Parts: sequence; C-alpha cells; structure tokens
Amino acid sequence: MDVSWDKVKTEAVKFLQDYIRISTVNPPGREKPAADFLSHILEAEGLEVETYAAEPERPNLICRLKGDGSRKGLILLHHMDVVPVEPENWSVEPFGGEIKDGFLWGRGTLDMKGLGILELMAFLLTHRLSLPLKRDLIYMAVADEETGGRQGAEWLVNNHPDKCEAEYLLNEGGMGWIANGLSGFFCGVGEKGPLWLRIWVEGPAGHGSVPLEDNACVRLVNALTRIASHEQPLRIVPEMRVYLAKVGIDPDTSPNELAGHGMLALPPIAAMFHNTISLTGLSAGQKVNVIPSRAEATLDCRLLPGADESNFMSELKRVMADDKVQIEVIEGFEASSSPPDTEMYLCLEAALDECYPGIAVLPTISPGFTDSRCFRKLGCHCYGLSPILVERDILSTAHGHDERIPLDDLEKGIMVIFEMIRRLNAE
Ligand SMILES: [Zn+2]
Repeated sequence: MDVSWDKVKTEAVKFLQDYIRISTVNPPGREKPAADFLSHILEAEGLEVETYAAEPERPNLICRLKGDGSRKGLILLHHMDVVPVEPENWSVEPFGGEIKDGFLWGRGTLDMKGLGILELMAFLLTHRLSLPLKRDLIYMAVADEETGGRQGAEWLVNNHPDKCEAEYLLNEGGMGWIANGLSGFFCGVGEKGPLWLRIWVEGPAGHGSVPLEDNACVRLVNALTRIASHEQPLRIVPEMRVYLAKVGIDPDTSPNELAGHGMLALPPIAAMFHNTISLTGLSAGQKVNVIPSRAEATLDCRLLPGADESNFMSELKRVMADDKVQIEVIEGFEASSSPPDTEMYLCLEAALDECYPGIAVLPTISPGFTDSRCFRKLGCHCYGLSPILVERDILSTAHGHDERIPLDDLEKGIMVIFEMIRRLNAE
C-alpha cells in the first residue's frame, strides 16, 4: 500500500503539538476543547463525530468507520485528560508542545495523547485509503481517566453500552522499551484489581507519661509489622505462562520452582506474580504527651486476575492476628484480563514484528488499571500497547517532570496500528 510515511509523520507531529497545547489537567479535566480539536480533524475528512457527555464540559467522542458487518468491531481508545504538573520542575513549558533534542515535550505526550494521535493517524489512513473493513473501526476519545473514569469510560460503558460494543480494543497499558542495549514490547493483557483498605485500632487515651498496654498506636504498628513481614505467595496466572515461555522459562513450571528466580528481584516483574500490599498512609496522635485513642493506616493492595477478595481479606486478618484491628474497604474492583492468543493479540504481535523485525513481545499484567477494565465488562478483549520504543528513563517521565516522546521512529507506531487494522480485516 502506497503511503508517504514522511508526510504522515509530519502531520502526526503537528497534531500532537497542537493537542499538547490544550491543557486537560484532571482535576478538573474540562476535555471539551480537546474533543473539539479532534472533532475538527475528523470532520475535515468528511467523517461524522458523535459525543456523549455526563456533563457538557467533559464529552466523550466517538467516530466510526463502517465495516461490512461480517466481524465485530475494533475500538482505538485513548483518554484526553492528563495529570497535573509542577511547572517549576520542568525545563520547558509543559503545555508548549515544544520540539527539542529529538523529542516532543509536554504533559500527555506519553500518557496518553501521543498514542491518541498515533491511533488517529492510523484511523485517518484507513479512511483515506478506503481500506476494506470487515469490522467497524471505532475511534474513541474519553474524558476523566486519571481520576477513575466516572465521567469517562465507566460512564460511557454504563450509559451507552451499544456504542461501546466491539470484539477488540487497543488502549494504553503496555509499552516498548529500550534499556541497557536491549529492547522489547510489553503488551498489556491484564490489570490487577485495586483493593484499597483502611485499618484502624481504637484504645484508651491517656497521658503519655504512663504507658498503656492497649495503646492503639502500638497495636497498629504490630499488626502492620506482621503484614510487612508476611510474604505473599507466588502465583502464576494463565496469562503469565505465555510470558514465561517468551523469556525462556518452562511455561508449566510450578510456583515453587519459579520462586527465587532472578527476574523476581525486579519489583515490576515480581508484581505480576504476587498480590501486593503497600502501606500508603499512617495517622494517629496530636500531641507528644497524649496517647491517642485511635490509630489508622491505609493499604494499597493489588490483586491478580482470579484472586478472591474475601479470601485475601481473611488471610490479611489472620496475619494481623489481632481482633482489635478493624478493617474496611475504601474502594476496590476486580482485576481483569484478556487472553494472549486471540486474533487481535496475534495480529498485534505480527504487526510489531513487521515494523521491528525480530523484536520480543511479552504479554504482561499491569499493576495499575486503565479504562480497559470498563470495556472488558462488556466482553471486549482489550490490549494495552504504545507501539513505539522509548528509553526506560524517558518512560518514567509520564506522570513526572519533563514528560516527552521521542520523534525518531514515531511513524513506526502508526504503521503498527495500521498494519494491525489491516490484518484484522483481511480474509
Ligand atoms: Zn493514561
């Protein structure tokens, strides 16, 4: 297919610069100018755009290329909102869309306006080239991902499920990385479920000069110490067996055999094989000479797909071994995953191999969550992948300072998505 990739890249860079210049910091979000910006681009190509909004300033945008109906749809999803910035810690204006040293700088370049523009270009190419489609191809830009999606994906899926119906979806949740001369792609096939807990102890208050046996602070600290010193058992969920095979480990290995493997020393890898608990908050006491009557902690737990929340909680209580410790769920929802062997996964793998010959593609379970969880509830298979290679140090600028995207091979990201679309609509 005859595509002038240089021109496509120039167009993509210009779009991304303009998109970055529209601040959609959430809170408060106010994604409307961003949705208008995307609408103008799509409408200029003669396409029809629909918006659905929980509130007027926060629309969700959908644009559809009709397929022949013989297969179910494919959604290209991104969120328009971004996280806040501390401008004093940036070396450029975070919403300036500046190009410097081979990068486009700005909040949202990696998370995730960049992928939104790569998807847009693949979508426009499909339209411009009149690629025959068996499936509807649906470009979707949602609001409010960064604070949980209640006015974005979650709202859209709950209120307009018919507009969100598709067999497959491409989203954030995986990336291409370069580190120490190696490179590869992590394709997100699942996400752990957050389980945010508050635990507290109540006890007698008193003067600090006379120690009390039932001091709430002491009981809480002891319970937390027991949690911290309890090792969570190693689990191998089915999705991770494919990962193991790809890194040269027998996929049928048992948790016992895998325990102690060197790769588990890396916390992000270990997190894919364990339910995890992070102590994220502690509060008690107002004055140095007063024993407070209450001590409280918050725990950020992340459960693997298939883990049972009530079993996890009972185990936690058993480990804390103190009846006086109270526990409540602040928020939680289930982990979700999609199989790493569907037609879309295989097409994505093949498209990556075509654009980056021989590169490793590994299915991963993300410790965080994205909007994909909302669409998986509708039965859609969702995969997370930003199809460009980025140095590991640069990847960590997402949500940090000096967020930036390398421009070197930006067009390859568009090629991968376009090639995946083509393959998913082939005979
Ligand atoms: Zn994001």
